[in-house]
Amino acid sequence: MTGVALLAAMGAMLIWVTDRQRGLATEWDLWAIPMLAALYLGVGILHVVRPRHIGLGLPPTLIATSIYLLGAIHLAMAGPSSVQQLYAMSSIAQMLPVFYIVAFVAWPRGGAWVSGITYSGLVLQYLFSLQTPLPMGGASELYLVTNKTLLAALVMHPGGILALSFITHLRGQLNRSQQDAFKGKERFLAMLSHEIRTPLQAMLGTIDLLALKLRGGTEARALDRLRGSAIQLDAHLRDVTEFTRLENPALRIQAETFDLVRLLNELREEWLPQAQAKGLSLSLDIAPSDQAVLQTWRADATRVRQIVCNLTSNALKYTLVGGVTIRASLSTKQRGHLWLQVEDSGIGIAPQHLETVFQPYVRLEDARALRVEGSGLGLAVVKRLVERLGGSLHLDSHPDRGSRFTVELPMADNG
Ligand code: ADP
Repeated sequence: MTGVALLAAMGAMLIWVTDRQRGLATEWDLWAIPMLAALYLGVGILHVVRPRHIGLGLPPTLIATSIYLLGAIHLAMAGPSSVQQLYAMSSIAQMLPVFYIVAFVAWPRGGAWVSGITYSGLVLQYLFSLQTPLPMGGASELYLVTNKTLLAALVMHPGGILALSFITHLRGQLNRSQQDAFKGKERFLAMLSHEIRTPLQAMLGTIDLLALKLRGGTEARALDRLRGSAIQLDAHLRDVTEFTRLENPALRIQAETFDLVRLLNELREEWLPQAQAKGLSLSLDIAPSDQAVLQTWRADATRVRQIVCNLTSNALKYTLVGGVTIRASLSTKQRGHLWLQVEDSGIGIAPQHLETVFQPYVRLEDARALRVEGSGLGLAVVKRLVERLGGSLHLDSHPDRGSRFTVELPMADNG
């Protein structure tokens, strides 16, 4: 979108400059084209800085373009015939199909409407031209060609507008059926995970009760294995449900103001027993100067928590000696962005796997003889979440030296 808007702005100004040099620009072109170019530039900038508000910029820009095109045609038909007018008419006849396409693509709901009104304007201009007496002499030929160019546009354009309406209709239908499919999948997964996870929780409770009665021995070890498998199954189900849910483009991000410093401290406390059980350190390092801002951060807290959780869980899983550090501060590269890092001194990842680990269901069955359980979805979920939140993710890792996952996330808009 930004590229198209900038190209349109540059193209308009290029035509304006060359037309002026060759004396082909009308009075209308002289002031209307720079204004349109400024509007296109504005739309491009709006799309970068406030993508969610792009819907406010597009309709006025398309309507202004339509007014310009109709005005230029009116001048070409109304004034005394000249080469300048013929040029205006033929260049606008070429531009109109591009205008219709952009209108339908950029503004699916109003594209048909703005194209229809522009076309109706052409019809009216043509009807008025029929009332105008034919000029005499050489000018009559110019007038006829200008008039015929308008007539050709009138004949050809309805087909294009109808085709574009049909494509937009099909696209809407496709989106709707895609949404229905996602909803169906989500309902099924929610049902599945509920139906399986509820009895699983009951099993885990019973295992814990049984464990109270057993004091060591073979039975206790068997019960431990049973508990391990049940916990693993539960984690797999949670990962699959979450990953599938994130496939849905309509998934809403719930922005809220929350205390990120507290959230990270809570997470550390949650994971500390697991780290200590493995003899690892787990530290949290929050830039003191950024603490105040991070205490009132605005984002989807659940998703941010999930990202840190998945990365910390992996860091602890794949580290045998040393420890894990979670760092947080404001980004020094991008204003208004949160910088999060999870670093471990673990087994690391070979350079050829740095990209593939983010693909779903990819687990590095390595010769590192490390038997850790997982679904291969943890990092895929992190990647999708970071994309959904409009951030970026970077991985630095060296085999046997450890890994460093860095995430940058923008602060969510108000409202
Ligand atoms: P899993 O459930 O297997 O942990 P992930 O998607 O979270 O799935 O990770 C994919 C693979 O990437 C893992 O199987 C592991 O081999 C590798 N990996 C992830 N995090 C780390 C890490 N911190 N250190 C070393 N290897 C890692």
